[in-house]
Amino acid sequence: MGSEAVLRDVHARIEIDTATAPETALEAGRRAGAIDVRFPGFKDGRGYSLAALIRESGYAGELRAVGDILPDQKDCLERSGFDAISPDTPSPRWQRAGFTHAYQLGIARGATDRPPVYRARALAARKEQVDALNREHSASPPQTIIAASVDAFSGRIAMLSSFGVEAALGLALLAQVDRRVPVLFLDTQRHFPQTLTYRDQLIAHLGLEDVRILTPDPAEARALDSDGKLYERDSETCCELRKVRPLGAGLEDFDAVITGRKRAHGGERQSLQPFEFDGERVMINPVAGIDPAGIAALYRQMNLPAHPLREQGYASVGCWPCTAPSAGLHARDGRWPGSDRSECGIFDQARTDRAVAARKRAVRLIG
Ligand code: SF4
Repeated sequence: MGSEAVLRDVHARIEIDTATAPETALEAGRRAGAIDVRFPGFKDGRGYSLAALIRESGYAGELRAVGDILPDQKDCLERSGFDAISPDTPSPRWQRAGFTHAYQLGIARGATDRPPVYRARALAARKEQVDALNREHSASPPQTIIAASVDAFSGRIAMLSSFGVEAALGLALLAQVDRRVPVLFLDTQRHFPQTLTYRDQLIAHLGLEDVRILTPDPAEARALDSDGKLYERDSETCCELRKVRPLGAGLEDFDAVITGRKRAHGGERQSLQPFEFDGERVMINPVAGIDPAGIAALYRQMNLPAHPLREQGYASVGCWPCTAPSAGLHARDGRWPGSDRSECGIFDQARTDRAVAARKRAVRLIG
C-alpha cells in the first residue's frame, strides 16, 4: 500500500483513498465521525484491508465505500467492516446484491451474520457430534460425561464456574479427569467476599492449574455504571456488562463449555440434556440430573469443603446485590429476589447474539 495518501476533512467526514498508508487510516479512525474510502476502480482490493484495519482498531463510526464499486462486491464490503455503500454508478442490481454463501473469513465488526461456508459445514458436523454424544451418554455418570467431553473437545474446552454453593462438585470431577482444563470465573466485581475466598480455597484444594478470571471492560463499566448502582436501575444491562460480554470474550478460544446447571434448579433448566448445542458452542451439563440430596451425598463422599454462605441459608450464590437466602422450592429462588428473573443471560444464545448484533451495523446503500 503506497504512502501517497489523499486525506482531506469534509466537516466531520473524512475521505481516504485506497492508497492511504495504514497508519494514516488509523489516525483518520481516531479523529473522524465518518470515513469514506474511495475505490478508484472495482479491481482495487486495498480498500477492504483498510476497512478491516480501521474496524479492528475500534473505530465505531460510519465507514462508507464510495467510488467505482460493483453490486457483486456488497458482501465482501460488509464483511470487511463497511456499513454504507455509495457507488458512482447506481444500478437496480444493488437491491438484490449478495451471495447465498461466502467463502471468506469474516474478520471485521461489520461481518455478515452468515458464516463462511467452511464454518457452516463445521457447525453442522458439531451438531451431529452432539446428537451422538447425547445418544451415548444420556444415562452416563457425571465423571464419564466430563471425560468424554475432554476427549472429544481436547484443547478447546473449558469449565464455567461460579464457585458457588454447588460448584465444588463439578470442579472436583473435572480435576479428577484433568486439572489443566481451563476454568472460567466471571468476576462481576459484585461477588460476596466469601465467594472469592472460597474460590481460592477450592483452587488450592483441587489443584486446578488454569483458572481464568474474566472481568468487565473498564471503559464500558465507566460508561454504563458510573455510580456503581446499575444493578438497581437495570439489572439486565448490569448482567450484560458484567457477565454476558466478558464471557463472550472469554469463550473465543473454546468450542465447548462445561456448566454446573441442573434440572433441579427449575425454570428453563428442567429440560437440560447432558450435551446441548447453541448454534455455536457445545454446552455440557454433566451434573444436570443430580438432585440436592445427591449433591449433598457426593460432597460428603468426596470430602468437599462447603461454601461459607451455605450454612446461612443460601442455596445459590451470585452477586451480593442480587442474591438472598432461598425461601422457595428451588435453589435459584434466592436470585434476583422480588423480580421474575432467574437467569443472568450467559446461557441465552439469543441474548448473546443481540449483544454481538448491537455492535454491528446494517449496510446502507446510498445513491
Ligand atoms: S447479578 Fe446483579 S450485580 Fe451481578 S451482574 Fe447481574 S445485575 Fe449486576
